[in-house]
Amino acid sequence: MTTRSLFLLPGDGIGPEAMDEVRKLIGHMNEALGSGFEVSEGLVGGSAYDAHGKSISDTDMEKALACDAVLFGAVGGPKWDSVPYDVRPEAGLLRLRKELELFANLRPAICYPALSASSSLKQELIEGLDILIVRELTGGVYFGEPKEIIDLGNGQKRAIDTQVYDTFEIERISGVAFELARTRQNRVTSMEKRNVMKSGVLWNEVVTAIHKAKYSDVTLDHMLADAGGMQLVRQPKQFDVIVTDNLFGDMLSDVAAMLTGSLGMLPSASLGAPDAKTGKRKALYEPVHGSAPDISGQGLANPIAMIASFAMCLRYSFEMVEEADRVESAIAKVLDDGLRTRDIMSDGMREVNTSTMGDAILSAFQG
Ligand code: NAD
Repeated sequence: MTTRSLFLLPGDGIGPEAMDEVRKLIGHMNEALGSGFEVSEGLVGGSAYDAHGKSISDTDMEKALACDAVLFGAVGGPKWDSVPYDVRPEAGLLRLRKELELFANLRPAICYPALSASSSLKQELIEGLDILIVRELTGGVYFGEPKEIIDLGNGQKRAIDTQVYDTFEIERISGVAFELARTRQNRVTSMEKRNVMKSGVLWNEVVTAIHKAKYSDVTLDHMLADAGGMQLVRQPKQFDVIVTDNLFGDMLSDVAAMLTGSLGMLPSASLGAPDAKTGKRKALYEPVHGSAPDISGQGLANPIAMIASFAMCLRYSFEMVEEADRVESAIAKVLDDGLRTRDIMSDGMREVNTSTMGDAILSAFQG
């Protein structure tokens, strides 16, 4: 029997509540479908700080490095606002991203038919929307040196951030985008600012070259990132996969995601390089939302972002495409049936708590 190792890091606030609903699906898949998930669990964020004085222990970090995939809930909350900076809850997530070398961030924007009326865009623009933003996560202006504020001594200061990309970084992120496009509608749009940034010129050159060398079966378009932002809200369905750098990806993925509704609906995946021996990529799956301390412990958390993150895990880490499709269809069915957590509640729908929403998705998955 295949074994698939999953390491759960529920974290803080609503993280554990949302993770409980994923556990129900994992349990069912092991019992009824023989999926062979080997599940272990650790602490991250404030809960790890309370237990070990660190935002993730070395033992848990080793487990994250050794498993096939990490499922991460959320970290943070007012309780830990004054802990030392280097052990603050978010440091645990940053350490995971760094040590697992998660350079590719995947953010889908999918519009569930039942929620198409609640978008800020016209219904016809987003009905059936299914786009994937692939954002470079470990390079660019967030990490480039020098990065400093200099006192100029004349009452003025100067702030410097450095946008820097090497060829290999652009090659590997665009490789991920082209490979994913092959499993979808086979189209990639690369976004940069080659008209005003040298890093944009190189980005464009490298994406064009790797496309020609290895992925000429995929349709490639280039778009300036500012025009891309406009097109995302004008005609979002024109896109399939968008690949872009860390800074533009940060903004464009938030824009794209919010086309489709609440934070409680948005999953994400972060992938690393394939292992030289096994070909398997390190991977971490997490909802886009945070620990939502304002609603934690009240049964108000929408577990769909966490469950949809698990669906991405099935698809990208375990090639369980059919099961991933079934989880996503189960979410769509429950929404069609009118069940809503409070964050997505609207007139005529039935408000349910976190656990009831999770149970309904499990039951729709079982068919
Ligand atoms: P948040 O995403 O936690 O919450 C923003 C708003 O959206 C809140 O009103 C919250 O109730 C609501 N919301 C979020 N997820 C929801 C869900 N699943 N169901 C229903 N409603 C939901 O962002 P915030 O309030 O800015 O941050 C709260 C804490 O989370 C902070 O400590 C912050 O640092 C942390 N945070 C962590 C992550 C992460 O772990 N990746 C990401 C963002 C923020």
